[in-house]
Amino acid sequence: SNSTDKLSSNESVQVIVRCRPLSLQELQQQCTSVVKIYSNRGVIEVENPKARSENERSKMFTYDAVYDEKSTQQALYDETIRPLVASVLEGYNCCVFAYGQTGTGKTYTMEGCDGEDIGIIPRAFDQIWSHIARKTGVEFLVSVRYMEIYMEEIRDLLKIKSTKVHELREMPGEGVVVTNLHSHNCQSAKDMLKAMKTGNFNRTTGATNMNEHSSRSHAIFQIIIEMVEGHSKSMKVGKLNLVDLAGSERQSKTGATGDRLKEATKINKALSSLGNVIYALAENSAHIPYRDSKLTRLLQDSLGGNSKTIMIANVGPASMNYDETIVTLRYAYRAK
Ligand code: ADP
Ligand code: MG
Repeated sequence: SNSTDKLSSNESVQVIVRCRPLSLQELQQQCTSVVKIYSNRGVIEVENPKARSENERSKMFTYDAVYDEKSTQQALYDETIRPLVASVLEGYNCCVFAYGQTGTGKTYTMEGCDGEDIGIIPRAFDQIWSHIARKTGVEFLVSVRYMEIYMEEIRDLLKIKSTKVHELREMPGEGVVVTNLHSHNCQSAKDMLKAMKTGNFNRTTGATNMNEHSSRSHAIFQIIIEMVEGHSKSMKVGKLNLVDLAGSERQSKTGATGDRLKEATKINKALSSLGNVIYALAENSAHIPYRDSKLTRLLQDSLGGNSKTIMIANVGPASMNYDETIVTLRYAYRAK
């Protein structure tokens, strides 16, 4: 049935949807688009290609914002991410997640391609450093960490050769920290870009199939900004977590067995626990189930409390992806 009512909105959690264009391959296979977007109303409508009756024909969902296939990286950044990064520069902890099935544009949205189509992460670098250049009377210390969670194990993407084990540990006054994780100090946007590229390169080392690996692990790029006020010497810390999540495709469909199935189960569990945490936050629930996965435990100090979260649900428009698109939209809707 059609449903466009918006659930109670919690300012600290925003959910947006982005639909990529049909790919060349999809066009060659004569796939049709089943997605319609009404940007001004925040509505996405998906036509059911297998509908048997009129009331099954289409489903509508409403979000804080929806971006169609023509939306630019610049518009998405300026409208939704820029205010969040401004909060980080005021000392808030924030998260941006890209969620969706493999091939829907998570990495495109988070990182983009070099040149004009750069995504959220490099645009955040520019925003941070132009703020620092303008601001007088404040000392800034900027550092980055880059890690991935693969099979519920944490890997340091900035120090790949290290054999140290990374655990999550509760530290008094600091919250949950990752042990032995390398932190890289940065003096410029260029430094940050270099760290991102090193991490991306390291992510592929040892992986037999790069695409497969990245679709099965969560990549977390963390920016920590310490700010010391000249006169008062008071310190503020802002933290930005930029997360390219593992593909949300239902692994049962792929007929996985053995280790693959175990892996798939872990991915699905981490994604559903993230969904549960965001849902609990949006509902102002008394119990937030952070402890159910490494991902949510690791991000605990940036989810809830004073922090702000943006969930970007990426979808593809092709009819053959109808089922997955609906699953993604439902996941994102529940987070609202
Ligand atoms: P994911 O990370 O979710 O697996 P990718 O980001 O790798 O997906 O995107 C899959 C393909 O679609 C890539 O070739 C990418 O360049 C392209 N793509 C994704 N989103 C867009 C977009 N909004 N506009 C143009 N091309 C896109
Ligand atoms: Mg990707």
